[in-house]
Amino acid sequence: MTAAGDRGDAATVDALVVGAHPDDAEIGCAGAMLRMTDAGLRVAVVDCTRGESASRGTPALRAEEAARAAALLGLCARQNLGLPDGRVADDEAALRALVGALRRLRPRLLLAPFPIDAHPDHEAVAAACRRAFFHAGLRNLLPELGPPWRPRALLRYAGNDGAVPTFCVDIDVLVDRKRAVLECYASQIGRSPDERAHYLRGADHVERALVRDRYYGTLCGCGHAEPFWTDGPFALDALAPLVTAGAGVDRATTPPPGGNPP
Ligand SMILES: [Zn+2]
Repeated sequence: MTAAGDRGDAATVDALVVGAHPDDAEIGCAGAMLRMTDAGLRVAVVDCTRGESASRGTPALRAEEAARAAALLGLCARQNLGLPDGRVADDEAALRALVGALRRLRPRLLLAPFPIDAHPDHEAVAAACRRAFFHAGLRNLLPELGPPWRPRALLRYAGNDGAVPTFCVDIDVLVDRKRAVLECYASQIGRSPDERAHYLRGADHVERALVRDRYYGTLCGCGHAEPFWTDGPFALDALAPLVTAGAGVDRATTPPPGGNPP
């Protein structure tokens, strides 16, 4: 990828995942985070709110759950911005908080929620991340929050809604570990079938996330895959990474016996 605004070795973390609530980052991309931390990359999560308006759990309990999930994921940092749960807006407070996080953590990649989502907080964080991605790189904007920093790319992970993804990450060998990460959030997923139901759409919280991964895996020719989107195109240095990529890509591009090449 090109390095628009990247300061190369000055990066503090390789990837920063921003979520509206504790557990959003994991539901969307726990597998991709595990892929990175297993490879020795530094991954951080920023939760914008403490989940104090949720019908389930308490902020203290959710902080404990988030810490357990962070340990399983091997995160190098997890921070909470303290924005108001249920009333997050793409406003000055969110911009300041997110610009501050980007300049503290200095990530090469920024992963944010998908812009269209049934939960208004998710949409607000998605929009605020887009502004913060740009504004954090301006040296004369909010200089008191630190020197300018802009990640190489802004990627979107899946929330409650989505579209055809730009690419997927094969997480088939990580499904059990992703499930273990999601089960850290006992206050959100509950114990009985009723308690485990998604707040809007009913289906079991954990199964819903993994069935989505299964669906995208099927489209990609691997067992499970997490979908991602980019805000506009980004450049690869070369096509070699696609040639040497994992088995999921190989399967996706291999025509079935007797079939036509895709
Ligand atoms: Zn959420």
